[in-house]
Amino acid sequence: MSFETLQSPLRFLHSTLRDFRPPDWLQHYQCWWEKEGQGTSDHTDRAGTPPLRMFDLAGRRVDEILYSPDYWRMLKHGYQSGLIWRVSEENAVFPAALGIYLTSFYDPGLACPYTVSLSTYVPLLKHGDAELQERFLPRLLQKDETVWQGATWMTEIKGGSDLGANVETVARPSGTEWRLTGDKYFSSNAGAELAVVAARSEGAAQNVRGLALFLVPRYRRDGQLNYFIRRLKDKIATRSVPTGEIELRDSEAWLLGRAEDGIYLILEVLNVSRVANSMGSVGLAQRAMADAASFAQGRIVFGKPLIEQPLMRRQFEDRLHHLRAAAALAWKAVELLNEVWQERPPYSDRYHLFRLVAHLAKYWTAEVAVQTAKWAMEVHGGLGTLHEYRAERWLREAMILAIWEGPAHRQILDGLEVMERKHAHRLLFQLLAISVPASALQQIEARVEQHLALPREEKEAGAEAVFSELAVFTANSLLRAVE
Ligand SMILES: Cc1cc2nc3c(=O)[nH]c(=O)nc-3n(C[C@H](O)[C@H](O)[C@H](O)COP(=O)(O)OP(=O)(O)OC[C@H]3O[C@@H](n4cnc5c(N)ncnc54)[C@H](O)[C@@H]3O)c2cc1C
Repeated sequence: MSFETLQSPLRFLHSTLRDFRPPDWLQHYQCWWEKEGQGTSDHTDRAGTPPLRMFDLAGRRVDEILYSPDYWRMLKHGYQSGLIWRVSEENAVFPAALGIYLTSFYDPGLACPYTVSLSTYVPLLKHGDAELQERFLPRLLQKDETVWQGATWMTEIKGGSDLGANVETVARPSGTEWRLTGDKYFSSNAGAELAVVAARSEGAAQNVRGLALFLVPRYRRDGQLNYFIRRLKDKIATRSVPTGEIELRDSEAWLLGRAEDGIYLILEVLNVSRVANSMGSVGLAQRAMADAASFAQGRIVFGKPLIEQPLMRRQFEDRLHHLRAAAALAWKAVELLNEVWQERPPYSDRYHLFRLVAHLAKYWTAEVAVQTAKWAMEVHGGLGTLHEYRAERWLREAMILAIWEGPAHRQILDGLEVMERKHAHRLLFQLLAISVPASALQQIEARVEQHLALPREEKEAGAEAVFSELAVFTANSLLRAVE
């Protein structure tokens, strides 16, 4: 593959995944980004955190986020192109996954609103009752600028990893509905018309079993705000999505699914977002490499273009291989998600395999994105550190992709859990058997089994080495299978 291919998301996918043919709408979407979207995105990043107008002239709370009109056009363009409504029409997650990857090549932060809208649509479709679906689903699937956005709010001030211990938002029954009170501390797509929110009903267990998932609209039935935005976070990146602190105050809410299945529903939401994040990380890593390649072709050092220097050339070739393997891994996570996204607990073996691949993909693609963005900055030398060029932006963005939806530790430990309890690694090795020699499979299988047999402390302490080995092995094997 030539480095030129890196410059186009669709050409890159086409040349990495054997059977991939980009649909027309995606080609139009890419053209739009080239002509219009990229400029708006750059401006949004430079403008930093948008102001929050909290009151109108009469002193009523309005909590309006003051992005520029160009921003709203850019945001709505993705929805109008079909990142969410096509999922419903095609009954498949591919349109969202592809659209999120492409968006992330140009603006990794903007991939978040589409991700969390998808992760709101899915539980509503699966677990909302008929009345809820009739009322809210069409809003998320509008094809014009009236489309509603979703959001997924779990994390509170005491921490996002240990949700069982740290979610203090309380849900109280109110007839057939619920009222939620509490504060969400990291809430992306603040201002969304509909959010799925983790809360604990009064008296429920103080652990993960006590959590349930609720649907919370932005406005109450009487037109008043149903939740408040206390402030917006001033982040290093992902400035194309507002992340805020949310106050729920007796907020109107509906329970999704059964309360006792709450933690499963929450994990379903997170796992959809993790797959989307994996595609986003590949888009970002590709972009960082594409910009580095353009620079290295034009920069003359020691009498020839930087990219022709043997050391640099080798680095580009190695990185390109890792990027393509990461893309194959993320794509397998998408394919598996597409098979199991409508499953409910108790889950099939295929679902457990999906979970393991999703953890591997979230972990490894984010690592590749961070390492590639760091290296791409170095390729630019001193120029890479300056705000006026894009290399520094990709590094800032990559750091957030690695943290939200659960940092590396979470993916590694949850990956261990699904291997220990569901033997998902054995299902993975069966999947890889078509492209990997038996001896190589036996070797990695022995390594994983040995690790799983260790005493708990030792197993957790040494988990990163074996998990990253498994991620690289899986990514390389999957690349071989799709090439
Ligand atoms: C820009 C941004 C937007 C976000 N948007 C949202 C959102 O919309 N909705 C939402 O719910 N959350 C959101 N988050 C929160 C995000 O999901 C959390 O940051 C993440 O889950 C980690 O939680 P924490 O930051 O509270 O870290 P903590 O849970 O306090 O953990 C701190 C560190 O310890 C590690 N750790 C935890 N447990 C272990 C262990 N057993 N062993 C080893 N290491 C461990 C963690 O991986 C982490 O690195 C957002 C975060 C960011 C940065």
